[in-house]
Amino acid sequence: MHLKRIELRGFKSFPEKTEIVFNKGITAVVGPNGSGKSNISDAVRWVLGEQSMKSLRGDKVEDVIFAGSDKKKAMNYCEAALTIDNSDGEIDLEFTEITVKRRAYRSGESEFFINGKQCRMKDIKELFLDTGVGKDSYSIIEQGKIDDILNTTGSSRRKVFDEACGISKYRYRKLEAEKNLKNTSENLERINDIYFELE
Ligand code: ATP
Repeated sequence: MHLKRIELRGFKSFPEKTEIVFNKGITAVVGPNGSGKSNISDAVRWVLGEQSMKSLRGDKVEDVIFAGSDKKKAMNYCEAALTIDNSDGEIDLEFTEITVKRRAYRSGESEFFINGKQCRMKDIKELFLDTGVGKDSYSIIEQGKIDDILNTTGSSRRKVFDEACGISKYRYRKLEAEKNLKNTSENLERINDIYFELE
């Protein structure tokens, strides 16, 4: 599995449709300070479901949308798409190429797509569980991340190893199952209350 392509439109400093192609092997993105190199990795984490504006180096949700320049008006929406080569089948979908896309509007609304089909953010997060590609995973090492990993608590550091060993999926599913169990027992309690009221 490898990231083949990133397409941006209206994302941060990229108002025009911009396509960045990654061939197999190493790709280096070079450019002067402030030219938008880090905005590219922000786009990757944003598509994968990043919600913390601090971690996307902004304050408000709309800070990911092109804010305008001397030459170009601000935009009302932005989108970013990642195309992944899945010919090794690492992602559990029958497609050999998978495109995940996120679109956001100034109103704060976000839309997510997998191969053009609208989905939930949760679906995108689940797709990448245990692949090392999720928004918090070790495939994106931004400035300061190594220090964070070294200085963090044991339980947070363990999450990195869980992802690498392929067990974070089970941890995630356990939490989901516990949430469903809690909801179900609350519903049962409610039904019992109604039942006794009717009796
Ligand atoms: P450095 O080498 O200094 O780390 P960089 O190439 O990584 O820089 P970025 O941090 O990716 O640069 O980009 C910063 C630029 O992006 C700034 O010029 C900033 O004005 C611009 N920028 C960020 N958000 C927006 C936005 N919403 N609209 C327009 N421009 C934006």
